[in-house]
Amino acid sequence: MAAKDQRADVVQDARKAGKDARLAFEFDLKRRLGDQAKILSADDMGGLYEPKRGLFTSIDGKPRMLTFDDILAFKAAVKDIQRMHGQHSKQASGGILVKKVIDLSTPQDRERANKQIHFAVPMRNTAGVVQFQTNAGPNSDVSRHTVMVQFLSYDAALSSGQPAAEAAKLLARGKVKYDCDCNRHTFWFRYIASIGNFNYGRAEDGFPRIRNPKLYGVACKHVIRVMGTLSHAGTFNNFARKMIEHGRKTLGGKQQLMTVKEQQAFIDNAASTRKRARTIKTSEEKRLERAAQPAQQRRAVEAAKVRAANETLRTTHAAKVNKPVPLDKKIKAMMKLGYSEQAARIAITAADNAQG
Ligand SMILES: [Zn+2]
Repeated sequence: MAAKDQRADVVQDARKAGKDARLAFEFDLKRRLGDQAKILSADDMGGLYEPKRGLFTSIDGKPRMLTFDDILAFKAAVKDIQRMHGQHSKQASGGILVKKVIDLSTPQDRERANKQIHFAVPMRNTAGVVQFQTNAGPNSDVSRHTVMVQFLSYDAALSSGQPAAEAAKLLARGKVKYDCDCNRHTFWFRYIASIGNFNYGRAEDGFPRIRNPKLYGVACKHVIRVMGTLSHAGTFNNFARKMIEHGRKTLGGKQQLMTVKEQQAFIDNAASTRKRARTIKTSEEKRLERAAQPAQQRRAVEAAKVRAANETLRTTHAAKVNKPVPLDKKIKAMMKLGYSEQAARIAITAADNAQG
């Protein structure tokens, strides 16, 4: 039931959604400018910090007064992040791969995305910048969140000589910049996205000295759900194709709005995919899953052989079929199929366990 209500929350008139999103981002900018006195800015980091301002940090766990050593540690953390995102070289380009957003997110944020954020729907596209709407988490004071995604390969996909359906695949495979209107993105991750050059929207130069001084993670649960939706071709590619078609037809920034009916169809399609495909996983988790698969398949084949052997016994010993077949008979039947005695014993135990 709850999921159904959340679906209704996410679907909305696209123009209204655009206006709401603009107001939310304006509110954020005003609040940020009002907070200036509490911000450890880029200028402060650059050597202009006045200790008499008495700012705090929680880099050691508990809040305490900020020192110049802390600023040096912060600057080193910034350098690490920039190096990770290729921002140390002169030819640095911006953006981040969709799968990398998932890979670099914290396990806690991924778990929240998997358990709490079920829907991400595109509302409108303006020249390769798409507004997505997601449901909000259970303890939120709003019913939805706005995630903006700029597809950096949009122009290239548009002008590539490929059919729209093929060109559409380039969007989610390319790099993106993003933004979310929630507090987690605002106070934990917008700074990281800004220094890594994959932030869309207003940049943040205030170091998160209280909430995230070690600069962990890259994305909130809403952004992670959107990235999960982008990486599921069956859900996203149809919309991506429409983006390309619209772009080729209008050759400009003309806004493309999703009707409520189209949003509903997008959500229904996403909801109909198997739960396994909707679970957001890192590249490493996917790799481990693939590695584990052959062993699972082997076990399934073994169990099927044991069942076949049992079936044979049922026809050859029909009179005794209702009695449990003694282990030694089972083993003998298996050995006729080419098993060694030991392998037969192991396979029978596995099959019995699987049935029990
Ligand atoms: Zn968010």
